[in-house]
Amino acid sequence: MTAVPSGWPAGLAPELGDALRGLAGAPRLLVALDFDGTLAPVVDVPGEARALPEARDAVLRLLDTPGTRVALVSGRSLESLVEVSDPPAGVLLVGSHGIELRLDDAHDPVGLGAEELARLETLRGVLDGVAGAVEGAWVEAKPAGFALHTRLASAPDARRAHELALGELRDRLDGVTVRSGKDILEFSVRSATKGDALERLCAHTAADAVLYAGDDATDEDAFAVLRPDDVGIKVGPGPTVAAFRVADPAEAAVALVALAALRQPGRAVRNEN
Ligand SMILES: [Mg+2]
Repeated sequence: MTAVPSGWPAGLAPELGDALRGLAGAPRLLVALDFDGTLAPVVDVPGEARALPEARDAVLRLLDTPGTRVALVSGRSLESLVEVSDPPAGVLLVGSHGIELRLDDAHDPVGLGAEELARLETLRGVLDGVAGAVEGAWVEAKPAGFALHTRLASAPDARRAHELALGELRDRLDGVTVRSGKDILEFSVRSATKGDALERLCAHTAADAVLYAGDDATDEDAFAVLRPDDVGIKVGPGPTVAAFRVADPAEAAVALVALAALRQPGRAVRNEN
């Protein structure tokens, strides 16, 4: 048994402290964390985002604790997530809101099925045709689809490229997610959410209990798949289905530091029955 004083961890709501104490006793714990706005303060230049030092230290301590896995779950591409998070060995990674996964030795980040590959081929044919027909349009391969870029095209040509692509694909978009952005039309054959990713992570780690923390609307999909004894922490303002909330990444780091301390062998309250 532990000698944790009542009221500890300091600086956290007592209910969250209790919940963390409960998690600390799980034989196999998964700590799944969004990156931007959760571990790292949001910055103007996305490439300059870095985890708070306290948060990174807590992650390292958790990784060092038996029966504990840590995952980063981000909307960034896997490549970008690796760049900004410099993930310590043993961290599981989810990029592109669940489309890309790097789980231990599984280096097939997308792992498309036969139907998805067939859709990908259809997309490739149509979009290559559009890019060939419209000056300034070009196609970028994405983890599970393609982006049609028109930034270098004139406005009328850009419009024509988008119309051509959507027109040709109109009857073939079953199972394809289309996102329209500035000078870009994105097609993805995989529509994954952070909730799907969290379920994959739970299966992969055989976790008995999960902590998930995130700040954004897309994190709600992950909160929604948490089980009764799991702990969801919403970081910052906004509506949420998470049971707990902290103000900002600094306070999220306090929670992680507390969990790491509680989880240390000999410190945690464990039910050995
Ligand atoms: Mg975020």
